[in-house]
Amino acid sequence: MSNDCVFCRILEHKIPSNIIYEDKNNLAFLDINPSAPGHTLIIPKKHKIRVEDLSIEEVRSLFSMLHLLLKPICEAMNAEATTIAINNGPESGQDIPHVHIHVIPRKINDGKGVSQVLLRASNFKTEDFNEIAAKIKEKIN
Ligand code: 5GP
Ligand code: ZN
Repeated sequence: MSNDCVFCRILEHKIPSNIIYEDKNNLAFLDINPSAPGHTLIIPKKHKIRVEDLSIEEVRSLFSMLHLLLKPICEAMNAEATTIAINNGPESGQDIPHVHIHVIPRKINDGKGVSQVLLRASNFKTEDFNEIAAKIKEKIN
């Protein structure tokens, strides 16, 4: 845990977030500034900056959660596909130096190429986030 890290504070419930799913090692929650409705972040509970700082078991566990959540996210958001992204280290433009996988629901012809996909274009309200989180959770079994 790092006291200066926003995601560690989310893990400790010191900052509220819309949690989608949690297991022993990882947490998934909605991005506060989404690129598309349902934009989800999946993080390991261990505070590590880069994927290669995690053990292979921790990476397997993180990607297992990714695998578990992709279909529920797509179904809940009526998305045809996803863009999956990791800014792996501060020098890559990573704002929060705690490993996280972005899962961005995509629709055919949504006008976003890979260079635009992480651009933010939304003005979501708290109710929208609550509703989206509930929809995704409903699809996880
Ligand atoms: P990065 O640029 O580091 O890959 O992405 C960091 C992501 O964390 C951004 O998409 C940003 O919107 C999200 N984020 C930053 N602060 C918070 C927060 O307090 N809560 C949530 N849910 N997401 C956050
Ligand atoms: Zn952290």
